[in-house]
Amino acid sequence: QAKDSGRNAYKFFTPAMGEEAFKRMEMERALRYAIEKNQFKLLYQPQVELSSGRILGVEALLRWTHPEWGPISPSVFISLIENTNLILPIGEWVLDEACKQNKAWQALHPGFPLRMAVNFAARQFAQADLVETVAKALQKSGLAAEFLELEITEGSAMNDIELNIRKMQALKELGVSIAIDDFGTGFSSLAYLKRFPIDILKIDKSFLDEIQHGKKDAAIVATISEMAHSLGMEVIAEGVETKYQLEFLRGHGCDMIQGYLFSRPVPPEQIAEILQKGGKIKV
Ligand code: C2E
Ligand code: MG
Ligand code: MG
Ligand code: MG
Repeated sequence: QAKDSGRNAYKFFTPAMGEEAFKRMEMERALRYAIEKNQFKLLYQPQVELSSGRILGVEALLRWTHPEWGPISPSVFISLIENTNLILPIGEWVLDEACKQNKAWQALHPGFPLRMAVNFAARQFAQADLVETVAKALQKSGLAAEFLELEITEGSAMNDIELNIRKMQALKELGVSIAIDDFGTGFSSLAYLKRFPIDILKIDKSFLDEIQHGKKDAAIVATISEMAHSLGMEVIAEGVETKYQLEFLRGHGCDMIQGYLFSRPVPPEQIAEILQKGGKIKV
């Protein structure tokens, strides 16, 4: 699912079909050492409250730069790690790093505590010790649980409903919030949606792309927003690129906006700079 053709600008991975499996193996091997070789970093994309223009949260997004191959597109390497157990140590690294970073911002700017959203792959969510892993990351970093949000996809939630409800409840008891990422692109049953203790729905970019031209996409976005609010959830729109989309979302009561219109994912110093200047982002 390549969401952004701009990200395919990285050149390493444009081989003929036959070489592809080989390159994937090489890449997988390199990924095994990427943590100890310090090749990962996180960028952070602001989540802005629509009514106030204030940054209330960020989403942590993983980046990998190989010393010879250069930066590798997330659409390539993330699906690779998500489909192997590599996601477990790497996911833990992301969680630890994101919690530490958030704590560091809070120490610098105690007046502007942010919520840190961290992506969780299905394989991570399926781990029996998920709750302990999250608790440990909070403990190690000293971050209060209310400032951590886990983003999972519909697919992760749907495969063992009863177990997943219990897991989510345990996470809620810890104090973290739960968001459903890419909402609307999976096949979640609305009957289950009401049983999961979900705090946030993130409307997928693909619906927003067409609202200006497609009546159906506009209706879907409006309906998701209304439904989420009726269920007591917060709505975040992701991939917002235009003023038209912004005004449409405002008209439909969307709570938070994440997208290039406000900011691309940026290094931590740039988030600190926004907080330094009062925590508002203008478009
Ligand atoms: P996602 O969680 O849905 O993240 C949103 C993606 O949309 C990010 O792509 C972000 O850079 C991009 N985006 C945000 N606003 C805009 C916009 O206005 N226009 C466009 N064209 N794109 C926008 P990114 O960083 O390439 O990440 C892709 C996916 O990789 C993420 O989708 C997420 O599923 C996964 N991912 C990223 N970091 C992690 C991680 O640490 N762990 C796991 N398990 N998955 C991750
Ligand atoms: Mg996400
Ligand atoms: Mg998403
Ligand atoms: Mg995703």
